[in-house]
Amino acid sequence: MTKYDQCNIFSRIIRGEIPSKMVYQDEFVVAIEDINPAGPVHVLVMPRGEYTSFDDFVTKAPEGLIARFFKTVQRIAEQLGVRESGYRLIANHGKHASQSVPHFHVHLIGGRSLGGLVPGDGESR
Ligand code: 5GP
Repeated sequence: MTKYDQCNIFSRIIRGEIPSKMVYQDEFVVAIEDINPAGPVHVLVMPRGEYTSFDDFVTKAPEGLIARFFKTVQRIAEQLGVRESGYRLIANHGKHASQSVPHFHVHLIGGRSLGGLVPGDGESR
């Protein structure tokens, strides 16, 4: 498992060293607008704790924190007004998923029809 790098960009954003558009924060969780949004709503929800990826989070975090984290994702979807219309969650883990920032985060994307997951996949399902 990769060692956590405290210089990664999200760690610096959480510490307040780099500005971001924060849409939610509490003791355990922070959500910021993605700098390169894939939709009208595109936020990155992340725990404050030092977890390198989804896999690392699920391996090391206490179960209470894991549950709280995902409840908070739902709460942020509600806050952003996409709970009814729908949204997509993406968590990239590791090289084959092209994870670019090694601090666990979930992309919450919505505000428009996102189509199929695979390019060319219809919206009929
Ligand atoms: P990943 O590829 O690791 O799943 O996603 C990283 C995300 O972080 C990308 O969607 C990228 O646009 C976003 N990102 C990278 N640097 C910054 C930054 O400095 N500020 C914000 N708000 N988002 C960033």
